[in-house]
Amino acid sequence: MSSFDAARLYFEHAAEHMGLSQNMRTLLLTPERTLKVQVAIERDNGEIGTFIGYRVQHNSARGPMKGGLRFHHEVDADEVLTLASLMTWKTALVNIPYGGAKGGVTVNVHNLSHGELERLTRKFVDEIHDFIGPDKDIPAPDMGTDAQVMAWIMNQYSKFHGFNPACVTGKPLELHGADGRKEATGRGVGICTLEVLRRKKMDVKETTFAIQGFGNVGSHAARFLHDHGAKIVGVTDASGGVWNSDGLDIPVLQEYVEQEGGVAAFEGTHPVDNDELLTSEVDVLIPAAIGGVLNVENAPHVQAKVIIEAANNPTVPEADESFAKRDILVLPDILANAGGVTVSYFEWVQNRQHFRWDLERVRKELDRIMVESLNKVWDIAEEKGVSLRTASYIIGLGRVGRATVLGGM
Ligand code: GLU
Repeated sequence: MSSFDAARLYFEHAAEHMGLSQNMRTLLLTPERTLKVQVAIERDNGEIGTFIGYRVQHNSARGPMKGGLRFHHEVDADEVLTLASLMTWKTALVNIPYGGAKGGVTVNVHNLSHGELERLTRKFVDEIHDFIGPDKDIPAPDMGTDAQVMAWIMNQYSKFHGFNPACVTGKPLELHGADGRKEATGRGVGICTLEVLRRKKMDVKETTFAIQGFGNVGSHAARFLHDHGAKIVGVTDASGGVWNSDGLDIPVLQEYVEQEGGVAAFEGTHPVDNDELLTSEVDVLIPAAIGGVLNVENAPHVQAKVIIEAANNPTVPEADESFAKRDILVLPDILANAGGVTVSYFEWVQNRQHFRWDLERVRKELDRIMVESLNKVWDIAEEKGVSLRTASYIIGLGRVGRATVLGGM
């Protein structure tokens, strides 16, 4: 099953509950525009490097399209389309005035020098600049891209269209970025997790966590939860995994990762691999890395009571069914990780108003949106007797569908 077919199952489940017509389903599933471009650069050794770049603009019924840009060796058309559609439902669910898009370049960034990465980014912008912009489609960071890449996008875009920092979000603070954007996805994950625990009457201080991924999302979520008294017993990343049943010292682990580049061999821990971590005896499991990690093979062995999807698309539909049967609560990606795009929205607003918000305001507005969205999802799930994922899709699809009908064809 392709990743879009899998995401489509979640969509169809909600569409069925809503009684959406086949024509409306087809309209909502079909991307508005798909760009596939050649990204050719000169390598440092003088040779030519040719890569493929994508931007899928899925839906603009509610506003300019919004979504990250991924530089990863596994990027393909199917993955970008899937992630673009998730952005449409995500922005609608948290009710920010955007549609959904996603971009990617199929490249292993670890094989690129700093200069090659810059040339690749600028070349990609050369190919797509006419199709993006503050009122059309606004890229942001995702796997393999960061504030530096966003700064190059802003700069390259300005060469064609003039100064307009709102053309991209997730920029460096020194270059029209927003306070709190870097931590935002992880913070949103943390806020949602605390709310879920409160509703399940679980005390965060008595709760154990395992987190897969210690990049921007996983590390900030870990830090937020640690600061609220949570015991994070296991963490894995590309370098390996670490386990300590008494709880990992997350601030020290963050410093260690800054120096060493990964969590592996952090002092005072046992090694743990990804499969062990995902099926470990913990209360809460947070996949915060790549998609499809919770699958048919490992789902029956997952022991967590709650799964918080910090990554995009981490659970395949068969695994989702297995969790539902075993009463494992899954907080879906389009809600759990929506903090990033929400603060991207605040950055865009600040850029357009040329008015800077302080960190306190960003956090307050983010926390409000996350809690309100979670409350709404929880209420619909209870009212209709559906999963939190189906409830999230019902809200997202409903908003996009109504905007489409109101706007007219
Ligand atoms: N890449 C992030 C996501 O998947 C953020 C997107 C954005 O800020 O536009 O939600």
